[in-house]
Amino acid sequence: MAPSALVLMYHQITPDGSPEGWIPSPLADPRYGVGLSAFTRQMSVLREHGFSVLSLDEWIARKVPAEKHHRPAVIVTFDDGYESDWRLAAPVLSTFAIPATFFVSTGFIGSAGMMTEDQLSRLSRDPLFSVGSHGETHRFLTTLPPDACRLELVRSMGRIRAITGQDNMDLSAPGGRISRQVAALAEENGFRAILTSKPGVLTPEDGLLAIPRLPVLKEHSPDDFIRLLDPSSWAFQKDRWIRTAKQGIRGMALGIGLPERVRP
Ligand SMILES: [Zn+2]
Repeated sequence: MAPSALVLMYHQITPDGSPEGWIPSPLADPRYGVGLSAFTRQMSVLREHGFSVLSLDEWIARKVPAEKHHRPAVIVTFDDGYESDWRLAAPVLSTFAIPATFFVSTGFIGSAGMMTEDQLSRLSRDPLFSVGSHGETHRFLTTLPPDACRLELVRSMGRIRAITGQDNMDLSAPGGRISRQVAALAEENGFRAILTSKPGVLTPEDGLLAIPRLPVLKEHSPDDFIRLLDPSSWAFQKDRWIRTAKQGIRGMALGIGLPERVRP
């Protein structure tokens, strides 16, 4: 069997006991705020259930152990660049030796609730972690003229390289939205992989320019999380069906066909 992977998409981690609807920054959506205890349990489940947990680099280098091909590996990602991902998530990831990539909208670096340059630099020095681009201003790249899209890509890449010294650069498209044009511009400007929010299982046939991901939400119970990791499960299919249907409806409303993904 060919290797496959589920790419989990986290946003902010919320401290336990946070008031309902609390967000760390105006950029955040409370539905994406996974509580610290829930996140810790989820990372522990990945290890207890023996999942092969990979970094994006390992997937790209095809370093999936052959004996693990019978079920998808798991890749952990974070979007936006919240300070909670450094302060709360990274220590948990380190405890369980789980690699992760943090996609940062560079225009928000150092603003309230977001990671600072120093935190990003320290994160990138940890061999478990890498930093990627989530654009500069978090505008949806599909809505921008090519020159503005190119600026988002080039400026965010330059800032991250200056902070981290990293060479490899991957992109998580804001809102998960990409188009053929966005993918072409990203590739031309030196991005290696593009992550979307299109639901599904990643296989080698997908290539690297439209990687599907699964959002982990505040509402996910421990059982939901385990079902999310089983593509054959009912919950996975239902979740996929609902989100694909929502995308279709939004796409029709916008008259642009089926977008890759819709961030509320
Ligand atoms: Zn985002």
